[in-house]
Amino acid sequence: MQIYADNAATTRMSAAAIESMIQTTQNTYGNPSSLYTIGQVAKEELEEARAEIAAIINAEPREIIFTSGGSEADNQALLSAAMIGKKKGKKHIISSMFEHHAILHTLNKLEKNGFTVTLLPVHENGIIRIDELADAIREDTCLVTIMTANNEIGTIQPIAEIGKLCREKGVIFHTDAVQAVGHLPIDVKAQNIDMLSASAHKFHGPKGVGFLYAKKGIVLSSLIEGGAQERGKRAGTENLPGIVSMTTALKEAVDKMDSANAHKTKIRDYLIKGLSQIPHSALNGDAKNRLSGNINFSFEGIEGESLLILLDQRGISASSGSACTSGALDPSHVLLAIGRIHDVAHGSLRLSIGDEITMEEADYIIEAVKEVVAYLRSFSPVWRDLMSGKKEFILK
Ligand SMILES: *Cc1c(COP(=O)(O)O)cnc(C)c1O
Repeated sequence: MQIYADNAATTRMSAAAIESMIQTTQNTYGNPSSLYTIGQVAKEELEEARAEIAAIINAEPREIIFTSGGSEADNQALLSAAMIGKKKGKKHIISSMFEHHAILHTLNKLEKNGFTVTLLPVHENGIIRIDELADAIREDTCLVTIMTANNEIGTIQPIAEIGKLCREKGVIFHTDAVQAVGHLPIDVKAQNIDMLSASAHKFHGPKGVGFLYAKKGIVLSSLIEGGAQERGKRAGTENLPGIVSMTTALKEAVDKMDSANAHKTKIRDYLIKGLSQIPHSALNGDAKNRLSGNINFSFEGIEGESLLILLDQRGISASSGSACTSGALDPSHVLLAIGRIHDVAHGSLRLSIGDEITMEEADYIIEAVKEVVAYLRSFSPVWRDLMSGKKEFILK
């Protein structure tokens, strides 16, 4: 059996997204900046895509700019809000401890340039508290950036409440919604979102394309200088096949969002129940307030990397934290942020399921994980110490 359970790292392109990429590549090869007909046709397709994406998140077309993906959108959002703040003498930024590295590393860069950053705790359930955000907002706060849903543990933040609070305080609110767009309903007006990042390859579109929404009036700084594309805010000939294909994928994802979420939630809860039977294990993050596709467990006394390799041998593609941290020795900052100690965080497994998953596959996964965890424990020195009482169990 082959089961792809790493949709939080990337997704397989849908057939319609591939078809739309081929069609655009073959037929609409003109440069949207050119004045002759095939250029103008490309320009029309580009603007149609922009309008369609804008409509899906309840924004205006002029509020959308296309980027090379989620990381670029995150970088541009943060650097732009920082520039706006700096002009007003406001150099304080609030974020959370478990953001994606595209956010955290950009914040590090801003700190080196004189900004002060407050990272809110995300607590055991992986969710920030509104009262703690309210307390953290200062006179000189120029930006709050909190992700909509976490890529490792799937927990969903109270975005509308954060947006409302930021609007009342006059602070720009950005959300990294890369894991949410196409999976959860987004309405930038109703949720008072000022800036939002998205990436096509997390909703069955192509890699290397995404978008940044920035509310009218927010002046973006460009990361890439050159031509006047994207209203002068992102130079470079537009990736039209990628953009059109992303739009196809997003429309499709939104159309089937409710049924996909209902199905995935059922399988997710079944997997959580099944994996909970493994002794000395624990689910990471809130059990209900999480993405329908996310299951993240810690198993005491084992190494996540070995678990992944043995699961791969059984045809299961999964992850042990985020794709960026796999291979590194440091345990996931997300698991540490929810209070897992190093040893426990190391023995973690993230399954991120797609809507094609079946109940039979879920059973196969549960059996495989049970067997592999038992096998790894059978020769783990840490497990031996735990069993002999030399070390104390952390997970019940
Ligand atoms: C994948 C991801 C990103 C990065 O997006 P890319 O398109 O791969 O650059 C940023 N934030 C989150 C939450 C992600 O899951």
